[in-house]
Amino acid sequence: MSADAESTTESTYDVVILGGGSGGYACAFRAAELGLRVALVEKGKLGGTCLHVGCIPTKALLHAAEVADTAREGEKFGVKSTFESVDMSGVNAYKDGVIARLYKGLQGLAKAHKIELVEGAGRLVDAKTVEVDGRRITGRNVVLATGSQPKSLPGLEIGGRIMTSEQAMTLDFVPPRVVVLGGGVIGVEFASVFRSFGSEVTIVEALPRLVAAEDEAISKTLERAFRKRGIAFRTGVRFESATQSGDTVTVTLEGGDTIEADLLLVAVGRGPVTEGLGYAEAGVTVDRGFVTTDERLRTGVDGVYAVGDIVPGLQLAHRGFAHGIFVAEEIAGLNPAPIDDVGIPRVTYCDPEIASVGLTEAQAGEKFGEVETYEYNLGGNGKSQILGTQGFVKLVRQKDGPVVGVHMVGARMGEQVGEAQLIVGWEAFPEDVAGLVHAHPTQNESLGEAHLALAGKPLHAHN
Ligand SMILES: Cc1cc2nc3c(=O)[nH]c(=O)nc-3n(C[C@H](O)[C@H](O)[C@H](O)COP(=O)(O)OP(=O)(O)OC[C@H]3O[C@@H](n4cnc5c(N)ncnc54)[C@H](O)[C@@H]3O)c2cc1C
Repeated sequence: MSADAESTTESTYDVVILGGGSGGYACAFRAAELGLRVALVEKGKLGGTCLHVGCIPTKALLHAAEVADTAREGEKFGVKSTFESVDMSGVNAYKDGVIARLYKGLQGLAKAHKIELVEGAGRLVDAKTVEVDGRRITGRNVVLATGSQPKSLPGLEIGGRIMTSEQAMTLDFVPPRVVVLGGGVIGVEFASVFRSFGSEVTIVEALPRLVAAEDEAISKTLERAFRKRGIAFRTGVRFESATQSGDTVTVTLEGGDTIEADLLLVAVGRGPVTEGLGYAEAGVTVDRGFVTTDERLRTGVDGVYAVGDIVPGLQLAHRGFAHGIFVAEEIAGLNPAPIDDVGIPRVTYCDPEIASVGLTEAQAGEKFGEVETYEYNLGGNGKSQILGTQGFVKLVRQKDGPVVGVHMVGARMGEQVGEAQLIVGWEAFPEDVAGLVHAHPTQNESLGEAHLALAGKPLHAHN
């Protein structure tokens, strides 16, 4: 092969990244900032799940849902407003506009970082090489970042009125009756949107409670709030089957109960995208589809790392960003601190919102034996009363030790998770936080009040 021919088929980079979602592009950007030569292989659109079919579109839908509720509830605040209807073409245009602006920005950043974007489906052919449409791209390091995709249940075929989040977020109509299979984060967020848009919603969850990964107190409050909003749920019940006839889906539960709906949303979790990509053949350990790594995100094959949803743990965009940045810095020899899932904040954007960081009461009990908890009721918080929301801030501390978990539920509580994260991450004692003055009247004040109470000097605490 002539030198010319070789240069068109082979290129060597410092880092070759397979997958341009949150984990992959964060790694690419940071590596480029550190002066490394980067190739980023993406078969779909730069930005991946989060930007195109995940975080951003769902949060746009949730915002439209909030606007619908505000229009409906104006009277409560002395404002005469009437809710007419939800125009899905308008909702989709707004949502797609948000995505398009962010996508354009992201493409601009990739260009500014001089990253070579390679379009196409890539495959790992050995520890240093990714092949895309016959082109071999070689790197001193390879980062696997192929993300996740919706799962279904055995025998439950996606199609027609049986959908995953990907189809449900592009609907051009509001289904009158929806069954949501799965009461985890994605399930309760969609249930919340559909209800606000006017659908009758039933959630079916095999586990005994909604948002089962959260502290039990959060599940109880969410269930109460959903009941009040007219969102039905069946927990501790297994799905058996679903059949479609015309535009109707009939869902059968274990025990024989049936529910008729116009749409079945399957939200039973997301599985890793790793099959057929050459990972195992290259020596990478793959366990039930996930890539096994050590805490430095090394796969066991020298120079091959994995980031984001393919690494077992929290499936969150900001975890992907953090993984990507970590690996870029590791490759550049900066010896960054590993990313610990426990310190990663979690927000579920349904109404009411859920925000948490650190250990639940049960997890802390297991880890430390004796723990102390305090639940500050938002009833005592001025801003929450103004907004008309209910909920609480729950603190979990190691007995006579630092705060190890913060769990919050109520309107807009997601915005409070930043301070909660600092408290848990810096292992603050209640007394440390009680000494910080929180602005009044904000919902953020509820975090301050909870710590005041746990430090033995409650101010607006009613329990
Ligand atoms: C409905 C929904 C709502 C969500 N909401 C939130 C939220 O509010 N907050 C939050 O933090 N997280 C949220 N998430 C999760 C978040 O989207 C993911 O955690 C995040 O996208 C994971 O990033 P990743 O880079 O690991 O994978 P992905 O974003 O899935 O990116 C992987 C990329 O790799 C590409 N790829 C795969 N195989 C190949 C191949 N062979 N060759 C080339 N390219 C390939 C894919 O096209 C994709 O672009 C949500 C997810 C969903 C589905």
